[in-house]
Amino acid sequence: MKALIIIDYVNDFVAENGALTCGKPAQVLDDYISELVEDFSKNGNFVAIASDRHPENDVHSPEHGLFPPHCIEGTAGSDLYGKTLERVAKVPAGQLISVDKCRYSAFAGTNLDIKFRERGVTDLYLTGVCTDICVLHTAIDAYNLGYKIFVCEKGVASFNAGAHQFALEHMKNALGASIV
Ligand code: ZN
Repeated sequence: MKALIIIDYVNDFVAENGALTCGKPAQVLDDYISELVEDFSKNGNFVAIASDRHPENDVHSPEHGLFPPHCIEGTAGSDLYGKTLERVAKVPAGQLISVDKCRYSAFAGTNLDIKFRERGVTDLYLTGVCTDICVLHTAIDAYNLGYKIFVCEKGVASFNAGAHQFALEHMKNALGASIV
């Protein structure tokens, strides 16, 4: 069974006025990610949303001091961006998995692995931002947990083009991911 994972495709990381935005490279993914949601949904596969979410003044987070505050609970910052938000709202509830995360990896401190295993999901298709931070860290955990990894090249982006390229190569060469 396959699942699409949409990692951090939220206003604070994507929208023009987002607190920690990747900007244009992230915004242009919206149509493609929406199409993938449609495909996975129609074909009876799963769609998983893993979005960053922090309490206000999250001093206990290791991200505190590394990054300015972002994706604060109760704000639109951790809501899905654009058309993707509208498309995800149409996914049948039985095919939708949604987790809030407070680390880079979608698996860290969440029940995503259990949800996938209950549903027989073995193949993960990664999309979202940033390729070299949350997407990469999610891929590393997926590798350690034994999932087959596919990275949707037109569905991932970063504010740092060099780091984006490095991450794609690392996922392919060190994690055995297929770049699709
Ligand atoms: Zn965060």
